Amino acid sequence: MIDVHSHLDLYPDGLALARKVNVRNEFTLVVTTSPRAYQATSRVFGELRNIHVALGLHPEVLEAKFVELEQLVSGIKGARFVGEVGLDGTPKLRKSFELQQRAFQAVLTECRLQGGRIISIHSRGAAQQVIAALAAAGDVGVPLLHWFSGGVAELRMASRLGCWFSVGPAMLTSEKGRSLLAQMPMNRVLPETDGPFTEQNGVTLRPWDAWRVCTVLSEVWGMSLDEVEHQLRSNLTKLLQLG
Ligand SMILES: [Zn+2]
Repeated sequence: MIDVHSHLDLYPDGLALARKVNVRNEFTLVVTTSPRAYQATSRVFGELRNIHVALGLHPEVLEAKFVELEQLVSGIKGARFVGEVGLDGTPKLRKSFELQQRAFQAVLTECRLQGGRIISIHSRGAAQQVIAALAAAGDVGVPLLHWFSGGVAELRMASRLGCWFSVGPAMLTSEKGRSLLAQMPMNRVLPETDGPFTEQNGVTLRPWDAWRVCTVLSEVWGMSLDEVEHQLRSNLTKLLQLG
């Protein structure tokens, strides 16, 4: 099982859960919300071979943690995975939007200078601005748009730019989520949970629950479950070859 966007460090029983995840999931990408969290999480999950930690600075905490931006940019050199980064255009973050854009640009520029990174990107309420920033930044590696919720035209633009997409059970409960999925290039889709911030039937999703998307993918793609699982595993192999 695979989860490419988990906040595993933010579950109340993080380390105990991580040990289980390391056995059950073949690959889990833990995105972090700040460079300091990245350091701590990398240390704690260090010996768990199937768990990988991404260096991030979440747009929701960017204003409060702006002093960590320098640490984020300088850390990209030594990090294989970057995330969670991006832009959030929802009303409560409007006043930090310019700051967010500056930070996101700095991250993308550094990723390009370092030869490209796999980047898990947040784009809630800001799909258009995220795509514009990616288009302007050049070859930043592999942008992996997490929980994409923009429009179809934006989705097509993102696909043309080479973006990948991570989709989760929570996103795919909505009709909009499913119709977006139908437009995504099948060979650039991966599962995610975004746990512990997501739930199904009142239960918090854990990293192995990302695999529940296989049922929906099988309906939308018109494939058997086996074929879907094979597709997702070969997508992951390809992603890891790219970055
Ligand atoms: Zn997230």
